[in-house]
Amino acid sequence: MSAAAPHFVALDWNGTMVPFFGLPLFAGVVATLKRLRAASIPLIVVSHATQAQIEAEIHRVGLSFDQVFGCEDKAEILSHLRLQYGPGVLLGDHPSDGRAASEAGIGFLQAALEGQSLQAGADGLFRAWNEVGDLLLVPSADLS
Ligand SMILES: [Mg+2]
Repeated sequence: MSAAAPHFVALDWNGTMVPFFGLPLFAGVVATLKRLRAASIPLIVVSHATQAQIEAEIHRVGLSFDQVFGCEDKAEILSHLRLQYGPGVLLGDHPSDGRAASEAGIGFLQAALEGQSLQAGADGLFRAWNEVGDLLLVPSADLS
């Protein structure tokens, strides 16, 4: 990743935002997304799911995003996002996420929320969501 906040943040769902469909958000997700939003960073969910499935999940947890993609091929979506926004980063937990980010030419920050070790090719990892804002060089939100 370059030494500046990303122009967009793409988010895998299972293993990154929640442990799995139907389960609660990981601790710290809401506050961190708020911080990214305060820095005007577009937030886009890219999930290996059907469009209906991922939209139902997002509705369930009560969050909103700039774009939501249920897809088979994350690399294709991420490539389009890079063209649309410029340099970005994918947050994801699976080696296939790292490969898709690499193929699309964007950064990959690995979600290691269940103790995973660093994957080859990842730009870094986070073990808790409250680490993400600093790792992405996003200024702290002014909450005053
Ligand atoms: Mg995942």
